[in-house]
Amino acid sequence: MRILRAAHLGMCFGVRDAIALALAHAEAGPLTILGDLVHNPTVLGALEAKGIAVAQDVAHVETPTLMVTAHGTSERTLARTRARGLTVVEATCPLVHVAHRAVTALAREGYHVVIVGQRDHVEVRGLTGDLDRFDVVLERRDVLALEEHPRIGVAAQTTQAVEKVRYLVDLIRRRFPQSDVRFVDTVCKPTKERQSAAVELARQADVVIVVGGRSSNNTRELVKTCAGYCARVHHVQTDADVRPEWLDAAQVVGLTAGTSTPDDVIDRVEARIRLCAEARGPKGGGGR
Ligand code: SF4
Repeated sequence: MRILRAAHLGMCFGVRDAIALALAHAEAGPLTILGDLVHNPTVLGALEAKGIAVAQDVAHVETPTLMVTAHGTSERTLARTRARGLTVVEATCPLVHVAHRAVTALAREGYHVVIVGQRDHVEVRGLTGDLDRFDVVLERRDVLALEEHPRIGVAAQTTQAVEKVRYLVDLIRRRFPQSDVRFVDTVCKPTKERQSAAVELARQADVVIVVGGRSSNNTRELVKTCAGYCARVHHVQTDADVRPEWLDAAQVVGLTAGTSTPDDVIDRVEARIRLCAEARGPKGGGGR
């Protein structure tokens, strides 16, 4: 059996930098993070062990310093934070800033903003938090429920699958042929790289294992993408989730991971796959 890693996988620079910033500030004094820094239980556990608190709302922060995550937040939330006298540490990913600037420009130019993303996701709340009117779409039925506007400006949550975003933009254009529909592609480069590498991987593998948090949007998107090219796809959070029977008769096991998955978690999953294959002997496909 051979284990094949995707050409691009795992933690992106935005998440890596945000974690480093949180740890550096936690050394200097008590710190609260606004929302989940990353959607990965392993990373969250490590931050908690350093005494870093998490609050879902500015009103619940009890430390003098608050950190905004890589997902970013709205100007309104920042203003509310500063009004409480809190010091703000911003770990917003530069590529999320790009999406914010795109949305601001669309709204300023008179476009009705439509975001392709998950309505309740912290990044989408940040992208829409300064707008009085907007829509969020994720499925075909959401597009069918949209109202007509003369100008519609579409941007996306940075971790959406770009193919799906393009499909929904196309649907919006067909639904409102009279409207000026402008699309700004704000899906980030690391997400695109991981998606296309996952397709390459799934095409070659008998089994694909995707590593990442259950609530990580980009990990779930990777699972869906791989499932389009490989019938045996499994989502695990840690090595403990890997089941030996998944490897039955597999010659090539593909391995990929979401943008919030640390390297050591991926390494442990790979080691466990190898162990399981060895324990099952020739039935599991044998050594590497
Ligand atoms: S997924 Fe993309 S936008 Fe989000 S933190 Fe990583 S690089 Fe930045």
